[in-house]
Amino acid sequence: MLQVLLCGALFDAVDGSVKKNMAVLIDENRIAAIEPQASFVMPEDARVVDLGKHFVMPGLIDAHVHLAFCGTPALSEMTQPVEFVAAKALKNAKDNLMGGFTTVRDEGYVSAQGCQNIRDAINAGIAQGSRIFTSGLVITQTAGHLEPSYTQERFGFQSFKPVNVANCPDEVVAAARFMLKMGADQIKIMVTGGVLSKGTNVGEQNMSNEEIRAAVAVGKMHGRVVSAHAHGTEGIKAAAREGVTVIEHCTTIDDEGIDLMVKNGVSLVPTFTVLKVLAEKGAANGVSADAVGKSAALAPKHMENVKKAYDAGVRIVFGTDTGTPLGYHGMQHGEFALMVQAGISVQDALLSSTRYAAELLQWQNSIGTIEKNKLADIVAIEGDPFVAIQDMEKVAFIMKDGHIYKQNI
Ligand SMILES: [Zn+2]
Repeated sequence: MLQVLLCGALFDAVDGSVKKNMAVLIDENRIAAIEPQASFVMPEDARVVDLGKHFVMPGLIDAHVHLAFCGTPALSEMTQPVEFVAAKALKNAKDNLMGGFTTVRDEGYVSAQGCQNIRDAINAGIAQGSRIFTSGLVITQTAGHLEPSYTQERFGFQSFKPVNVANCPDEVVAAARFMLKMGADQIKIMVTGGVLSKGTNVGEQNMSNEEIRAAVAVGKMHGRVVSAHAHGTEGIKAAAREGVTVIEHCTTIDDEGIDLMVKNGVSLVPTFTVLKVLAEKGAANGVSADAVGKSAALAPKHMENVKKAYDAGVRIVFGTDTGTPLGYHGMQHGEFALMVQAGISVQDALLSSTRYAAELLQWQNSIGTIEKNKLADIVAIEGDPFVAIQDMEKVAFIMKDGHIYKQNI
């Protein structure tokens, strides 16, 4: 089937410009042509969607979500059977899609293979949801962020196994290779403590330089993304020095860390939403005092530090940590406003959730821009984000793979 989108304003994520009165021709699930409406020859049998009053752009990509979790303060999914969690994750994938996030990167799931199965079920058309790029289980260390027995002993979680525990470079290699064997798209490592693991110190480097190097070596051999969770300054620098692909949060980065990220081409996914929401609303909503305290201490400096990295030329990629307490799938558009508030341009905020994110996932040949032969993942916003960034939450039209999921125009 042929479809034509008549676009009043079209965000060109190739160069960041906005083009007026364009026509986008879609043949089945692929983009076939992009032309000015004035010279476009309308095919006779095409279905036409008039987006003349809308801001059309590539499908949004959230490069940091947790599909297993639903935003509950206690992260109750940690102790629930994996099959039950899978049902929730499938719903979360649908909710992301219906928010305009046609692709999400899952940054850590509750079982080794569950998220890949959900990814594959959606790709096979068995279920509806965002495209999913997976980590499988995260790799941490004894007494590290989300390490099961440590958490269990201290906080009473039962059957909590969302991690691979590795305590030397060889074990990191084994864990990373195991996750690739399980079909994960990338390798996720926990380099420092975390906000949500009571008792871990967010400032501490918990994964050794040698262990990080081992993960990076496996990633390089297999041509895979290595994603490093890091809040603390030393951990951020270690991850950047060893050449991970991307650092998540990057909360307390200093000038030396910024230089290392620029030099090694390391991307940064800030996830402003999670720290801000936990700091402001956590206490009233039953989130642990430990997590609220850590977030409140980190949030203000976080924005300043990310802005410095941005000004120095570090590639910023859109990510929200949705699924963690009070972060709800399909409702994470507030991150755009937080990015702009931090000093990131609207153009870069939009690129960060389209082309930049696609490039991070190494999926730039199929998604991230509206170009000929790419998959037809396209959304339309009511309003204009260049005038009011808050308009990003008004997603009125959603197409994924050439299929229209929402047409509220
Ligand atoms: Zn996360």
